[in-house]
Amino acid sequence: MTSEIKITPLGAGQDVGRSCILLTIGGKNLMLDCGMHMGYNDERRFPDFSYITNEENERLTEHLDCVIISHFHLDHCGALPYMSEMVGYDGPIYMTHPTKAICPILLEDYRKITVERKGEENFFTSEMIKNCMKKVVAVNLHETKQVDEELEIKPYYAGHVLGAAMFHIKVGQQSVVYTGDYNMTPDRHLGAAWIDKCRPDLLITESTYATTIRDSKRCRERDFLKKVHDCVEKGGKVLIPVFALGRAQELCILLESYWDRMNIKVPIYFSLGLTEKANHYYKLFITWTSQKIKKTFVQRNMFEFKHIKPFDRAYIDNPGPMVVFATPGMLHAGLSLQIFKRWAPNDHNMVIMPGYCVAGTVGHKILNGARKLELENKQILDVKLSVQYMSFSAHADAKGIMQLISQCEPRNVMLVHGEAAKMDFLKNKIQQEFGIDCYKPANGETVTIETIHNIQVDIPLPLLKREASKTGLLPPDVKRPRVLHGALVMRGNRLQIIDPSQALKEMGVDEHHLRFTSTIAIEEDGPTNKAAEKIYQLVKRKMKDFPIHYSSDGSISISDSVLIQVSGDDDEAKSVLVSWSHQDEDIGSFLLQLLREDPSLVQAV
Ligand code: ZN
Ligand code: ZN
Repeated sequence: MTSEIKITPLGAGQDVGRSCILLTIGGKNLMLDCGMHMGYNDERRFPDFSYITNEENERLTEHLDCVIISHFHLDHCGALPYMSEMVGYDGPIYMTHPTKAICPILLEDYRKITVERKGEENFFTSEMIKNCMKKVVAVNLHETKQVDEELEIKPYYAGHVLGAAMFHIKVGQQSVVYTGDYNMTPDRHLGAAWIDKCRPDLLITESTYATTIRDSKRCRERDFLKKVHDCVEKGGKVLIPVFALGRAQELCILLESYWDRMNIKVPIYFSLGLTEKANHYYKLFITWTSQKIKKTFVQRNMFEFKHIKPFDRAYIDNPGPMVVFATPGMLHAGLSLQIFKRWAPNDHNMVIMPGYCVAGTVGHKILNGARKLELENKQILDVKLSVQYMSFSAHADAKGIMQLISQCEPRNVMLVHGEAAKMDFLKNKIQQEFGIDCYKPANGETVTIETIHNIQVDIPLPLLKREASKTGLLPPDVKRPRVLHGALVMRGNRLQIIDPSQALKEMGVDEHHLRFTSTIAIEEDGPTNKAAEKIYQLVKRKMKDFPIHYSSDGSISISDSVLIQVSGDDDEAKSVLVSWSHQDEDIGSFLLQLLREDPSLVQAV
């Protein structure tokens, strides 16, 4: 049976940002993530939902069976209140418990920056965020959730950030895995992603670091600590832009223990607000963190720091060295950008970008070597401070992506959440190593995947045994397909092959017998019973596994249903009649061939 799975990215197609993928599977329509793009301030920041609705003012509810959110990063959930409350969607939204708890806080922060600081209108309100969250159904790891009678989803641990999950989506025998963002190596505060060998028809995976195989973590960490230490020793200030949750906690744990070890007195600050809340959530969802954190948590709260103090805006111009963690991570708005503007003109200072920056953000610009930036007020900012990049992002690298493919054994792979040029490299690698198709659609481009599925049919053992005895084969052998005689019966939603006579009995009808006969002429001119005897010996030799009976009137029967009758006068050519029922077609044709071709019988010309 073949059917189709259709996928159209509305965002994250050959791009990082605005993750939003439409999936049609087994007649169900799903939206995977509903993110915003940090690189845009116009309508391109949200997915184009008019792609789904056919007419204006139509609601999304009629076109979508459910929405799944992989994790709380805004590039995966930032458009959610806009979609549900402003475009209009009342169906279920699935996410894990930590994501459900943290997501509204980040959405509210995003709303504040956009509306209150940038003064934008026609944006979603706090009320809308609340109403949107009411539509959320929280799910547990490894718990199969029935969206409706046919559609089921199951979340798996993705590492990456607190609460991040990959989703296995299943309708009948068709299934898709959507990874969201994930990390295949455990870090200081989270475990590694893991999934069952679920053999989906399609694996949709992020590919942020498609071409990177990152050097060992320890090297990166040593490098990071040395850079920070060198800068503060010379009296410089270090800015580390971070997301409120995720790498921030990881780097704090790292710096805290280094400061302790090296007995450094330089202050480390962390911008308040989100951080406090963030740590609160780590405590709340401790089961989602790494094994090590869980163990040490009993003795000491890993998220309460001795050296790291809350930051106050007034500290920006304090003299002397300091290290500041500030949000957001890509320097596109907020406190991190504010600090950056003040510290950028001094070449003693340093900014360390610990993760990927989306095109269009200040972070992306300076990482690409921009040394003069135009600010909103048309002023030019001279970037003299040292710009460093350390990949601490918790994304899978090329090796990790290949690992996940081996783990779940998909039939097809689709790359999203990455750059087109880098995807090509990985695409070739996947096709070569696994021999499966790999796709990388752009936004708005639809990929159709044909799925082939076997239909399960039950066959009672006696029926299989009887067939095996006829052909002399042990059941079953995929390399030697053969005909099985039986009646296909559907009971409830189960298919079963039963003995035809049993099927007839159950239906209360008489069997209609169909017999075939064929005559072959042979030049055996001795006595008739001698010719019959000769044929009997031949058949017995060639069909060892069959019950064969020879009677004195010169007729031979095989399995009680195939009959051979030799007739004609002694000393003349004979004719051999072969008769078989429709159930023994294979035996009948075998016999005809045998009688026509065996060299021991002289054929009539
Ligand atoms: Zn993410
Ligand atoms: Zn992402």
